[in-house]
Amino acid sequence: MATNPGELNMVLGAHMSISGGVDKALDRAAELDMNALQIFSQNVRSWKTRTLEEDEIERFKENREEYGIVYVVIHTSYLLNLASPRDELWEKSKRGLVEEIRRADSLDIPAINTHIGAHTGSGLDAGISRLVAALREIEKTDEFQNSKTAILLENTAGAGTTLGSDFEELGRVLSQLDEPDRFGVCVDTCHGFAAGYDLGSAEGLGAALDEFDSAVGLDNLKLLHLNDSQGELGSNKDRHDHIGQGEIGDKGFRAMINEPRLVGVPLILETPKEELDGDPADRVNLDRVMEYRRQRAG
Ligand SMILES: [Zn+2]
Ligand SMILES: [Zn+2]
Repeated sequence: MATNPGELNMVLGAHMSISGGVDKALDRAAELDMNALQIFSQNVRSWKTRTLEEDEIERFKENREEYGIVYVVIHTSYLLNLASPRDELWEKSKRGLVEEIRRADSLDIPAINTHIGAHTGSGLDAGISRLVAALREIEKTDEFQNSKTAILLENTAGAGTTLGSDFEELGRVLSQLDEPDRFGVCVDTCHGFAAGYDLGSAEGLGAALDEFDSAVGLDNLKLLHLNDSQGELGSNKDRHDHIGQGEIGDKGFRAMINEPRLVGVPLILETPKEELDGDPADRVNLDRVMEYRRQRAG
């Protein structure tokens, strides 16, 4: 039984494909009655910069208005590594993020979510310094200064040398920026669980939020990527699962969806897209999330 999430006072949607144009993602989201969505703004496995056409931008804005989509976020390219010790990749990554800001601004999209990168052997402190230096340069660009788009730093599962699996690292980065109000954090629940935050129970969630609050500040939590986890607690495995079907499970998500400290934070699914019992998986996962909310209300 589908409902628009707005009727439950939720800002809820999923990552949607931009195949055929960025405006097409909105059609797909509206078909599933979402009031929020995440998109890529171009091919995320290519460095080639895509310029959006004027009519595509117009259609995007019109569709968004017509469908009542209250929140859109761009997920940056997977190729970016803002913490890289290698100059060429670091420079390309900074330019890539600036291009994302330019596209977000042209589409009136309020937020960009990015992975913060990997130190690839230079060490945690060197990686964080490099990342902070990149973000501080970006803060000075015209593209950043002339837009209102916020940049959200996503936590990671902690595989390899990736930064940001520990909330404390994200807090360290934010505290060194010139305009921290233009930044925030996205917590991916699968990544958090795989990194060792026990989101599978109300107690574990409470402890994780306490830790987040002291390391980053709950005011800076701007987005939740709602994904269950195929990997076990602390496994460092970034393997997303359907809501309630993984290691976080119903109990964890029910607590999360009804946690007073998380009310109002946009919720974006990045769950697998294959069908579930003949239904589009997004439909099933959205319904599960809304059902947790109804159970509390009822
Ligand atoms: Zn991500
Ligand atoms: Zn994510």
